[in-house]
Amino acid sequence: MSLQIALIAHDRKKEEMVNFVIAYESVFANHQLYATGTTGQKIMDSTQLKVHRYMSGPLGGDQQIGALVAQNILDLLIFLRDPLMAQPHEPDIIALLRLCDVQGIPVATNVATAELLVRALDRGDFAWRELVHKYKPEGEQ
Ligand code: PGA
Repeated sequence: MSLQIALIAHDRKKEEMVNFVIAYESVFANHQLYATGTTGQKIMDSTQLKVHRYMSGPLGGDQQIGALVAQNILDLLIFLRDPLMAQPHEPDIIALLRLCDVQGIPVATNVATAELLVRALDRGDFAWRELVHKYKPEGEQ
């Protein structure tokens, strides 16, 4: 089962994200990875993983990943937000998380929850997402 996973980390969380992805590289290797520009680049520089990179977050990358969520294509989002620093693209961040709640997409916004989700992913706990892909309501792409 190969799922669609997006990875985003704010600047002061990028090192934590890279270390996290290194730790679970063997799990991530079984899935399709998407990321905002800089996060994706840093992950590719430090692992053997291939990541589809969108634009940098402040330039619209969160919105591009949001489009995957709106279409119910994305299966899991790991978004290491910086809770102590205001972001210029705060509205995009809120919009992305809102769309995840619209579609019921599993989201982690800190590494403790990310670890739980990735372990669950490894056990196959998100197999139900395959059914979502198979049986899309009429009218959905
Ligand atoms: P980046 O974007 O990965 O391009 O830095 C993430 C963000 O800051 O939203």
